[in-house]
Amino acid sequence: MNQNDILFDRACKTSPGGVNSPVRAFRSVGGTPRFIKRAKDAYFWDENDQRYIDYIGSWGPIIVGHAHPVVVKAVQDAAANGLGFGTPTRAEVDMAELLCDMLPGLEQVRLVSSGTEATMSAIRLARGFTGRDLLVKFEGCYHGHSDSLLVKAGSGLLTLGNPSSSGVPVAVSKDTLVLPYNDVDALETLFKEKGNELAAIILEPIAGNMNFVRATPEFMQALRDLCTQYGAVLIIDEVMTGFRVGPQCAQGVYGVTADITTLGKVIGGGMPVAAFGGRADIMAHMAPLGGVYQAGTLSGNPVAVAAGMATLNIVRQDGFYENLRAKTATMLAGFTAAAQAAGVPFSTEMEGGMFGLFFSESAPKSFAEVMASRVDLFPAFFHAMLDEGVYLSPSAFEAGFMSAAHTDDDIAATIEAAKKAFVKIAD
Ligand code: PLP
Repeated sequence: MNQNDILFDRACKTSPGGVNSPVRAFRSVGGTPRFIKRAKDAYFWDENDQRYIDYIGSWGPIIVGHAHPVVVKAVQDAAANGLGFGTPTRAEVDMAELLCDMLPGLEQVRLVSSGTEATMSAIRLARGFTGRDLLVKFEGCYHGHSDSLLVKAGSGLLTLGNPSSSGVPVAVSKDTLVLPYNDVDALETLFKEKGNELAAIILEPIAGNMNFVRATPEFMQALRDLCTQYGAVLIIDEVMTGFRVGPQCAQGVYGVTADITTLGKVIGGGMPVAAFGGRADIMAHMAPLGGVYQAGTLSGNPVAVAAGMATLNIVRQDGFYENLRAKTATMLAGFTAAAQAAGVPFSTEMEGGMFGLFFSESAPKSFAEVMASRVDLFPAFFHAMLDEGVYLSPSAFEAGFMSAAHTDDDIAATIEAAKKAFVKIAD
C-alpha cells in the first residue's frame, strides 16, 4: 500500500488540492506529493519509509540541517518553560539585538510570524512614513500573499501558470506598479514620471521565486540612488536570501543598504519567525510610538524565537558560509558536467547556500528569459531525481537550498542521480 497515495486521497477530501500551500501539490510536475514524517540532517523520510536527500530545506529555513541537536535542545528548553505568554520576553530582546548586530542598516526590528506579514507590514509602514500610496514591485518577484503584492508574482502562482491572483480588488492592485526586473531604463522612466508619488519599491535582491535571477549591481545601485533622491522607501525583501546567501544577507553581497529589510525563513530555523526592520526614523512610525498599526498574537513566540536564535548562532560561526558555498559549487559543477555529457542545454546560478537550475545554455537575467528556458524538461528531470532519492523543489520556478548537513557523500550521490536523470531526459 502506498501511504503517500492513501494520505493524498484523504487530504484532497478535506483540504483544497490536498495541501496547505499550493506548490506542495506537485501540480506542475505531476504525481503524488510525498508525505514526510521525519527528517534528520540532509534527509527526510516519507510515509513509505523512503529516504530522500532534501534540497528544499522547508523552502529555505533549514540551513543547518534537519533536527540539528542544538536547535532541537533550544526548542525543548523553551517549550518546557511555556509555549507563549503574549508579553515581552528576554528572548525577543536578544533576537532583535542579534539581528541588528548582524545586518548593517537594521537599527530597529519588529518580529512577526511569516514573511507575508513582514512584507505586508513593511509596505504599510512605508506608506505611513511617506504619506504616499504607490508601490513598485518587479515581475516574477514574490513577496508573500497579501493583496497588493499578488500582482505578476512568482513562486506558486507562476508554478500554477497564473502570476496574479483572483480575489484581489482592482482598487488595491491599481496602487501596485509592476516593472521588469533588472531594467534600469524602465526604473528611471518611472521615477521621472511618478517619483514623488512613490511610497516604496520592494524587490527580491536575488529573485528565488522565479528560480534564481540575481539583480545586477547597476540595478541595485540605481534603486538605492533613485529611492534616496525621490524619498521613496527601498524595501529589500530578504525573506529568502536573509542569512542564506551570506552573513550579511544579499545586502552584504551588493554593498547596498535597504531603508527597510524583511526577513523570514532562516531567522526562524524552521519555526514561524519573520521580521521587518531598518532605519530607526522610519520604524518610529510603528504603533505604539506612531500611527502605523501592526500586531500579532504569536509575534515573537518564545519557542519559535529559540529555534531562530540557535540557528543564527550556528551560521555565525567562522567558515559557515564558505563551507556552504563550496558544497553548492561542487554539486552544481557536477550537474553541469553531467548535463554536458548527456547533451542537455543546462546552466546554473548560486549564491551561498541557494541555487538555481535552468534548462537553457546560459542563466536567465530576467523573467522573460526564465520563461524562454526549457521549463518543459523540468517535470521529467524532477521525477527522475525523485526516483533516485533526491528531492528537489517540485517547480521549475523555485530556488533550491543546500544545508550545512549535506555531506560530500550526499553531494556525490546527488550528482550520480543527476547523471542518470540527464540521460533519461535526453532520450
Ligand atoms: N518574500 C519572499 C522573498 C519569499 O520567498 C517568501 C516566501 O517564500 C515570502 C516573502 C513570504 O513568506 P511566507 O511564506 O513566510 O509568508
